[in-house]
Amino acid sequence: LESRTRLKTLSGLSIADHDCHAAGLTYVYPVISRRAGGISIGINLHPNNACNFRCVYCQVEGLVLGAGPEVDLSILERELDWMLDAASSEETRLAWAGDRAHARLIDVAFSGNGEPTTSPQFAEAVALLGRLLAKRGLLGTLRVVLITNGTMAHKPHVLDAIGALSEANGEVWFKLDRATDGAMHQVNGTHVSVAHHLEGLRRVAARCPRTWVQTCMFQWDGAPPGEADVDAYVAALAGLVADRVPLAGVHVYSLARQSHQPEAPRLSSVSAEWLDAFAARVRGLGLRVDVAL
Ligand code: SF4
Repeated sequence: LESRTRLKTLSGLSIADHDCHAAGLTYVYPVISRRAGGISIGINLHPNNACNFRCVYCQVEGLVLGAGPEVDLSILERELDWMLDAASSEETRLAWAGDRAHARLIDVAFSGNGEPTTSPQFAEAVALLGRLLAKRGLLGTLRVVLITNGTMAHKPHVLDAIGALSEANGEVWFKLDRATDGAMHQVNGTHVSVAHHLEGLRRVAARCPRTWVQTCMFQWDGAPPGEADVDAYVAALAGLVADRVPLAGVHVYSLARQSHQPEAPRLSSVSAEWLDAFAARVRGLGLRVDVAL
């Protein structure tokens, strides 16, 4: 009950506060999403801070290598129920957002402190969210987002859950930061090959027609990604376009939040001009591109 009451009194949420603890909860948190332009309810299935990537820009403190822990679905359901109740109040949304422009509920997002699809309860969590949205008449109207690094896209049960999410007005944001094996290893801390990763993207797009590529571009020791990396990235997307993979578009951004990885002091945002020029090349493929610095 204390947490439920605290939810209504949270205020001044910022883009930096992706934190369940601020709300006194285990799995669910509200956050102002500058990309989406309002309040997003985040679902964190990884309170253990474990991910199978180690992106150098990752903002998770105490990030460890691993998969999701067992999720207590009864707690997740209770917290989501509370959060959706709280978010239905305009007064509460205004207190959270701090201004009217952002005091609207944009979506519910599976994101958090690890890769959502490695959670043993990912499919159950998707189904549970669908039930809670249906109870409020929000199923099909409130957007549901899966923010994923795509590494589990070859697992049938994950693809089935993505199909269910898609039917619940869901969209997928699939991480593709670089398109050479070397650069992907350097940026994402993985030995997954680009070819395997792109195959996963094709599978996900086939199950969810609202699949976005999400790409983080940043400077390393003051230098933006090199021409060869940009060329490889554009060529990878060109291959998907040529094969008519149904992508909704590309979300391009730079360092939205402080990295909490050892490389943090070496990283900085690319300039708006660099990002715009990069976006223009991707748009040249006929893809929609949304840019956020
Ligand atoms: S995939 Fe996401 S949670 Fe995992 S290391 Fe990268 S940024 Fe962090």
